[in-house]
Amino acid sequence: MTIPFLDLKAAYDELRIELDAAYHRVMESGWYILGEEVDAFEREYAGYCGVQECIGVGNGLEALHLILSGYGIGPGDEVIVPANTYIATWLAVSQTGAKPVPVEPDVSTFNIDVRGLAKAVTARTKAVMAVHLYGQPADMDPILTVARSYGLKVIEDAAQAHGALYKGRRTGSLGDAAGWSFYPGKNLGAMGDAGAVTTNDGELAERVRVLRNYGSRVKYYNEIKGFNSRLDPLQAAFLRVKLGRLDEWNNRRRTIAAIYQEALSDISFITRPFVPDWTDPVWHLFVIRSPKRNELIEHLRNLGIGTLIHYPIPPHLSAAYSTSGWTAGSFPLTELLAREALSLPMGPHLTPESGKAVMQSVVKAALK
Ligand SMILES: *Cc1c(COP(=O)(O)O)cnc(C)c1O
Repeated sequence: MTIPFLDLKAAYDELRIELDAAYHRVMESGWYILGEEVDAFEREYAGYCGVQECIGVGNGLEALHLILSGYGIGPGDEVIVPANTYIATWLAVSQTGAKPVPVEPDVSTFNIDVRGLAKAVTARTKAVMAVHLYGQPADMDPILTVARSYGLKVIEDAAQAHGALYKGRRTGSLGDAAGWSFYPGKNLGAMGDAGAVTTNDGELAERVRVLRNYGSRVKYYNEIKGFNSRLDPLQAAFLRVKLGRLDEWNNRRRTIAAIYQEALSDISFITRPFVPDWTDPVWHLFVIRSPKRNELIEHLRNLGIGTLIHYPIPPHLSAAYSTSGWTAGSFPLTELLAREALSLPMGPHLTPESGKAVMQSVVKAALK
């Protein structure tokens, strides 16, 4: 038996005819930067998220960076971020010259603990980055209440939550703006790097459009010092095909998650992911916690089952932030998660039979 953590090739196998047709359409068009294919994806994804505006950009990190730049955030400013997140959330802030200010998670949901939010606000705070980690929406209503009371922007890092619902509303429509990644392994994944910004803020959308394209609206008229971060039309064409499958593929993930949740219910050394009743997560990752995490990885590896750790080194302990003054012990809950978190195989091409086989192997570990 071999069950990989994620099988990306299977996505191409399932959609080969449509993806090949999309490829040929773009090749034959003779148009390879922005243009109709990107416009069409932007319209379709804005519609899917229930927002006015979508701007296709190069990747998820740049989506977040362009939002922050579009809001004029820069040196001297502070932006509140979750202490436990993929490091891109922090890097987007650092790239503007502003300072990421970390807040610990609620360990049951893995998302930012709203109680820590208000305490982290200073006179320099300009925005809060709300990450919907592992596909589970952050608790946006209290985040928005705190943020509004201090006049802060709320930016969703929605890179792991395509299609997830918070109180019936789609992620990407919940704050002032959202940054998306379409990295191949994400719930909506391209065949390469890609990203987008969604927002109902028309002025921000206009600024991000200009920023992504050399600071120019009209070719060779550069209004501001912009960047080059444009969604590739080929990726846009692939994403249009895959957007049509997003809900169905998310439902396949939900089926696997239900199998896991049930089978793990009485294994004493494993804590299952907790889902508050006001969210409908999309299971980008299925992350358990266990004090015996490392033994479990070894046991599953010997049985041919792939697992990963998201994330083994929290941003504040990474070499990249070694000069920022944080040390081991600065964020104990985040560090606990880094020691205990384990992501089990998950994806739209993992069959329920394979999901059950993963569970049989975990149960065997429990009996040892
Ligand atoms: C993947 C990811 C990003 C970055 O996306 P890229 O497209 O790889 O730049 C940002 N934030 C989170 C939470 C992510 O998972």
